[in-house]
Amino acid sequence: MTCISRKIDKLRRQIPSFACKPGCHDCCGPVTASSEEMSRLPVKSDAEHDAALAEWNCVHLGPDGCEAYEQRPLICRLFGTTPSMPCPQGLGPETPTEEHVVRQVHDLIASTRQVLV
Ligand code: SF4
Ligand code: SF4
Repeated sequence: MTCISRKIDKLRRQIPSFACKPGCHDCCGPVTASSEEMSRLPVKSDAEHDAALAEWNCVHLGPDGCEAYEQRPLICRLFGTTPSMPCPQGLGPETPTEEHVVRQVHDLIASTRQVLV
């Protein structure tokens, strides 16, 4: 396991989860991720990417929400768990993500080559 892979796993564990509004995907859209995170996501064709982007959607968004939920990127996990990225539905975990974890996620994003998911 690479260093970046271990960092991602650690950060994932430090971001609290919460129950979203059923069927909601208001915060989904085109997002970017590191190549390590990309390697954990299902492979999509260029045509699927183009179709999603044409509607300003994420390629992993299906009729019932995220189809790659278990492997969704850190940025998706962070959404709604910190005051700097509030959920538009007003939902979130009881205890927000700790500030140092939020910073580490942004540092990791800034220090890795990001590609469109
Ligand atoms: S975080 Fe909020 S906006 Fe995003 S899917 Fe969950 S309920 Fe919807
Ligand atoms: S990976 Fe999943 S949670 Fe993240 S933007 Fe795409 S559909 Fe939404």
